Amino acid sequence: MRFAIFSDVHANLEALEAVLADARNRKCTRFVCLGDVVGYNANPRECVEVVRELDCPVVKGNHDEAASRLTPACDFNEIAERAIAWTRDHLADQDKEWLRGLPLQTRVHDFTIVHATLDTPEQWGYVFNNLDAAASFTYQRTNVCFFGHTHVPMVFVRDGSVRRERVEHVRIEPAKKYFINMGSVGQPRDGNWRAAYCIYDTENNLVQQFRVKYDLAAVQKKIAEAGLPRLLAERLAIGR
Ligand code: ZN
Repeated sequence: MRFAIFSDVHANLEALEAVLADARNRKCTRFVCLGDVVGYNANPRECVEVVRELDCPVVKGNHDEAASRLTPACDFNEIAERAIAWTRDHLADQDKEWLRGLPLQTRVHDFTIVHATLDTPEQWGYVFNNLDAAASFTYQRTNVCFFGHTHVPMVFVRDGSVRRERVEHVRIEPAKKYFINMGSVGQPRDGNWRAAYCIYDTENNLVQQFRVKYDLAAVQKKIAEAGLPRLLAERLAIGR
């Protein structure tokens, strides 16, 4: 099976549609979403609708949680918080209910998905180094786990010790464990503005990263028109 696995859409509809079209062109039949469907950009409702229509496995991200919480709480930086407040005002009650009901982690086929970490998924910690990855590996029961949250593609492999591997092509070997982040659809932060996602070909034991261009100017215009912080439009262009 060919799974298209994507994360951190962050209400960027143009990027989401470009990724889904690219994945369909590459013969993906299954989709998996690693959370943060909303927050930062200007199309939260539309992105929730598109992801819901995929009827695919989805886990909850911290922005999904913040935007759908019954009692608003403030644990973001100022710009993210402004975007969350805007998002809360622009989501329908049924969208929020759907976001609230998402699981923190789940199993799909023969792999696991989680937004942040496997050791304490509800605390939304960031996995940026081997030590962070080692903590998650302790709780990883499947060969492969996909995660998001950092918006930076990184692949960790446990084979006795934990180390990092190239992200473009990952050959899955049965004796090893893999903790894989393929970056963000809607707000990449690895210096590359193009939307990121990956395809996991389970028959050929191969995970491949893809980058997809989308109509950046249209997204930036929507951010401005929505009255969202200008920095959110600027950062998209530089992938930070
Ligand atoms: Zn995110």
